[in-house]
Amino acid sequence: MLSNISFDVDGLWSALEFHKIKADPKKDLGIEEGIPRVLDILKKEDVNAAFFLVGKNVENYPETHKDIAENHEIGNHSYSHNNELSLLSHEKIKEEIIKAHNLIKKHVKVTPKYFRGPKYQINGYILELLDKLNYSCDSSFMPSYYPRITPVRNLLLKRRPHKVGKNLVEVPLSVNPILQLYVNGSSVLALGMPWLKFSMSMLKLFKLPLIINFHTEDFIKTPDVIIKHRHRLHEDSLPLLRKAINYINKNSRISTLEEIGKSYAP
Ligand SMILES: [Zn+2]
Repeated sequence: MLSNISFDVDGLWSALEFHKIKADPKKDLGIEEGIPRVLDILKKEDVNAAFFLVGKNVENYPETHKDIAENHEIGNHSYSHNNELSLLSHEKIKEEIIKAHNLIKKHVKVTPKYFRGPKYQINGYILELLDKLNYSCDSSFMPSYYPRITPVRNLLLKRRPHKVGKNLVEVPLSVNPILQLYVNGSSVLALGMPWLKFSMSMLKLFKLPLIINFHTEDFIKTPDVIIKHRHRLHEDSLPLLRKAINYINKNSRISTLEEIGKSYAP
């Protein structure tokens, strides 16, 4: 079984703004504290991951983001993490993607080949654009319904990696094949290891890879007052991340999105 672990580096500001709480993206614990903590766990477990970067954060924290690229793959997560990306005009969408692309190239010294839409937002125009930009994979499909995050129509999205352009492959995020619920960082943090273990065994049965995304801002030490709107953010999240990574590493072969894409859609 193949798997890929990724981190969306949204920043705590983006999570707080989603809950209509004002935050300062230039003083962000999700980046200052979250990134080094996650990098440390990956190093201890000797695992490589993919990180999806937000252009605005790269601009504010060039050095912190550069550290990631030493050992991990880099993807584009748009410039400003607009949660309505797919509803913007083509011109605006293009600007969001190209601006982040160029900032990552300039500060992180990597040309991103992967894209993930903010809040799993994607549409035909975005896929066409990514294909033109020579991206190898998009990983925005989340074939599940969750209030305020993914609409009911997402239940119809394909769950297996497949070609969506001349060279572009869509590598959908994992959902539990029986229950069709997210198998992502948030669900693992909320439901613990039994959820990950059960879901991985089901994915294996259905011959699907595990494509799992976490958020770096879930792994910070934060006073409760800031986090009361978050599902779960506390001191156990970091040890749980380590356990999850360790389990995935022992029970599958961790690979790149590109390799997984190619093995399913040559
Ligand atoms: Zn995000």
